[in-house]
Amino acid sequence: MGTNDFIKTRGIVLSEEKYKESSKIISLFTEKNGRINLFASGVLRPKSGLMLVSEKFVESDFLLTRNKNNFYIKSAEVINSNMEIANNLKKYFIADMICELLLKTMPENLVDEKIYNLTSQVFNYLKSDKLNPQILKIGYMIKLISFLGFRPQLQQCTECSSKDYSNMYFSHRDGGIICGNCLDISGEYVKLSKVEIEIILKILYSKFSDYEQLDLPEKFVNRIDNLIYDYMLYSIDLKELDSQNKYKKLMEI
Ligand SMILES: [Zn+2]
Repeated sequence: MGTNDFIKTRGIVLSEEKYKESSKIISLFTEKNGRINLFASGVLRPKSGLMLVSEKFVESDFLLTRNKNNFYIKSAEVINSNMEIANNLKKYFIADMICELLLKTMPENLVDEKIYNLTSQVFNYLKSDKLNPQILKIGYMIKLISFLGFRPQLQQCTECSSKDYSNMYFSHRDGGIICGNCLDISGEYVKLSKVEIEIILKILYSKFSDYEQLDLPEKFVNRIDNLIYDYMLYSIDLKELDSQNKYKKLMEI
């Protein structure tokens, strides 16, 4: 493809790095081209009109040019500045986690419109104040890993198909719930109540817009957040996320 071919796509900035006086190298998650690295030449010059489009979390419509594997901005128009996210510490670190996840799980140029739409939607709800940010975080994590092929089996025991929810455990290794009769002494399990399993199922299978109807006690939310976070890391084979470590440290101060 030559430099004269234009690529039109919507995209969200996942990371930005200043380059020399007035340029940036940004990682962009796009709807039509997957994750790409962009050389944003001169965007820090006020006259460029592109300062905002190159900032983290901002979603814009781009007209790009491409030379081999390098992308450049021809023009861009902001769709969602998502500035409200950066003004709230809790929301900021959830959005930061989402960016880190996409940087670490999405190979360059792999197009996935479902994951793009999920990300665009979660940013819109995060900034809106309509929904509990922590439930959105759980929803994003469990839906993302489902799209990546790790949807947890929560309807029945992964071993014997039992549906006795009074006697269930969650197992990373088995990718879902396992009943008390099928436990293996070498395995690691987290006991789950019937209510907790039902909450996770609702979060997994409801649209973000239906989360408004979810009325969840705080103690369940924290427990499920930890459970899904750990399962997600296990599934995508990561030990930890820098964004979450930073957030935890900040909360200790
Ligand atoms: Zn079983």
